[in-house]
Amino acid sequence: MSEQYDVVIVGAGHAGAQAAISLRQNGFEGTIVIFGREEVLPYERPPLSKEYMSREKEFERIQLRPAKFWAEKKIALELGCEIVGIDPVARTVLLSDGETVGYCKLIWAGGGSPRKLGCPGSQLRGVHAVRTKADVDRIMAALDVGQKKVGVIGGGYIGLEAAAVLRKLGHEVTLLEALPRVLARVAGEQVSQFYTMEHRKHGVDVRLSAAVDALEGADGWASGIRLVDGDLVSCDLVIVGIGILPDIDALADAGAICENGVRVDSYCRTSLPDIYAVGDCAQHENLFADGAIIRLESVQNANDMAATAAKHICDKDETYSALPWFWSNQFDLKLQTAGLSIGYDQTVLRGSMADRSFSVIYLKADRVIALDCVNAMKDYVQGRKLVEARAVLCPEDLGDTSRQLKELL
Ligand SMILES: Cc1cc2nc3c(=O)[nH]c(=O)nc-3n(C[C@H](O)[C@H](O)[C@H](O)COP(=O)(O)OP(=O)(O)OC[C@H]3O[C@@H](n4cnc5c(N)ncnc54)[C@H](O)[C@@H]3O)c2cc1C
Repeated sequence: MSEQYDVVIVGAGHAGAQAAISLRQNGFEGTIVIFGREEVLPYERPPLSKEYMSREKEFERIQLRPAKFWAEKKIALELGCEIVGIDPVARTVLLSDGETVGYCKLIWAGGGSPRKLGCPGSQLRGVHAVRTKADVDRIMAALDVGQKKVGVIGGGYIGLEAAAVLRKLGHEVTLLEALPRVLARVAGEQVSQFYTMEHRKHGVDVRLSAAVDALEGADGWASGIRLVDGDLVSCDLVIVGIGILPDIDALADAGAICENGVRVDSYCRTSLPDIYAVGDCAQHENLFADGAIIRLESVQNANDMAATAAKHICDKDETYSALPWFWSNQFDLKLQTAGLSIGYDQTVLRGSMADRSFSVIYLKADRVIALDCVNAMKDYVQGRKLVEARAVLCPEDLGDTSRQLKELL
């Protein structure tokens, strides 16, 4: 075994970086190393489909911390290093180059890798994901020369954000969503309709119930997307945004309980001794989903789970109970969500879609469980408290914009 650390962190994304930062913030003085598969310093992922893609922000401005921070805090960064195995008995991790490194505590923060299309033609060149800096650098290099036709597959947040940026940059964009509405997994009908309309207004060709059959190519490069109904969408470049698969192979091989993610308890502990898992890869019981076992993909979840694991390692008894929140920027629209709308049975529209400033409030058995606020910062800030309080409120009051949400608490 080459080295030994008190805490080994696998994954240099939001969760891995925050775990190390929180350990130091909580007074942890032991040795810490972060192993990251990507070659670059830990960075914010959300700008990849926003300001980094639009080139409003350079890479230096999306780094989570400057290089000197990690050295000052005595957090070793081993970048361009992949962990391929865990021996939970010997308490070692195995690097792809065959080295082993020992740990006292291991925090797995591997995030996820983009789901692949899996249809004929998906191996063609010119087919891209939007998950890493390298992905976006490749996309932007390919789009640098002149106006291009881009086919975006997937109408989730990432597909929609990428479509908005590329449209603003003047490219022709067709967005294909297999389901009858965009954002179907995460938002209610009204929000889906609003975003479809906005994208169309801005010139994105949004096609719903448009299932992909195959990618067609010319000289090894993607040149079109063939739909199940026979239509062909011609394009110079394809972006695939159809979700991620959690990166948990090493944990599963080591015997950790895994389903759609690695199962963790309220302290972010896996079923293996002294091994924690945090962020996109971790499945947990979420209080804001009525205790359902879920996996969240958000910066909030990555940071708060990381803080929980770090505190537990520092002998602080604090369980994970943070309010889920999320944001998405498309065109001049800022969407902010609080809570989880899973299982809602009623929605209230507050404000006006025509004015492009409104909130959709989700209720379940009369309780406020979530809000999607579009250009409605006040509702978001005040509405968070209603979700935290699991407030039981009458829909008429919630929809009455002459009253502020905080008055209803
Ligand atoms: C384009 C885009 C836009 C987004 N926008 C938003 C947004 O607006 N708001 C929001 O809240 N969330 C957003 N998200 C989601 C958010 O970025 C993620 O939830 C967050 O990055 C999760 O952090 P993580 O550390 O768990 O995983 P990741 O950020 O994926 O980091 C995991 C890291 O671990 C590395 N890794 C994996 N396996 C290994 C291994 N075996 N060995 C070494 N390294 C490994 C990976 O290479 C990766 O660098 C967005 C995500 C993307 C991709």
